[in-house]
Amino acid sequence: MKKSSLSIIREVYDPHNDFYILLGKSRSGKKTIAPFVVGFCHRSQDEVTDIQRFMDYPSATDRLDEIVVGQELPDDNVMLFEDWLQNDVYEWEEKFIEDFSSRMTRQAMNDLVREVCADLGMRAPRLVWTRPKPYSYYDSDDHCIYMGHRDRCTLLHELAHAYMSEKLDGPEDHTNHCPAFVWKVIELYNRYAGLSLDYLVTSANGAGILGPLDKETLVAPLRQFNRR
Ligand SMILES: [Zn+2]
Repeated sequence: MKKSSLSIIREVYDPHNDFYILLGKSRSGKKTIAPFVVGFCHRSQDEVTDIQRFMDYPSATDRLDEIVVGQELPDDNVMLFEDWLQNDVYEWEEKFIEDFSSRMTRQAMNDLVREVCADLGMRAPRLVWTRPKPYSYYDSDDHCIYMGHRDRCTLLHELAHAYMSEKLDGPEDHTNHCPAFVWKVIELYNRYAGLSLDYLVTSANGAGILGPLDKETLVAPLRQFNRR
C-alpha cells in the first residue's frame, strides 16, 4: 500500500529508525475494506508495511499508541532497516566537517575517548589501531573502535556510534546513520571539535539528514520485544 494513497491522520516519527508509524484512512470507497490503516513507512519511501486495518478510528489510534508505548518494532524488514542515510552523512562530513578536523596522536585520542565517555556517562570503548587507511568503524560486539584514521572528527563519529549502541540500545545493525545518530554526532562536534551548533545544524538540515523538524517525534527508540 502506498502512503500517497492514504489520507494521513496521524504520524509519529522515529529518529532512530528514520521511519513513521502512521495512521491513515484509505481513500478507496469499497465498503468491504476496513478503512483505517496503521503501518510503518520509511521517511524516504512511499511504501507502507506491516499494515493493520481497523473499522473505526478509536481502535486504530489505540493501536498506534500501543506500538509507541510498547515500543514495538516490526520484524526485520529490509526496506525499513536499510542504512539509507549513510552516504548522505558521509557527504555532509566531507563537505562541512573534514576541513575542521585535526590530526591527533594515539595518546591524545585515548585521552579524548576517556573525556567524552566520562562526560556522557558511558563505558569507554577500546581503541584498536589499524594501519593508517581511510577506514574506521565501531564494533558493538566487542565495544571496540577500529581506527584507521588519525583525526579528531573521525574518532568523534565513531564515538557517536558507540554511544547510540551502548546508551540507547538502538538498532545496532540497522540505521547506523539515522537522524538520532546525526544529532548525537553534532553534539560531539560542537563540544569536542569547537564547531558551532548553528553551522552544524544548518548544514545537516540542508543535507536532509536531521529528519523532519515539525513532526510528533519519539524520544526513545522502538525496539523488538525479546531483543537484548
Ligand atoms: Zn559511521
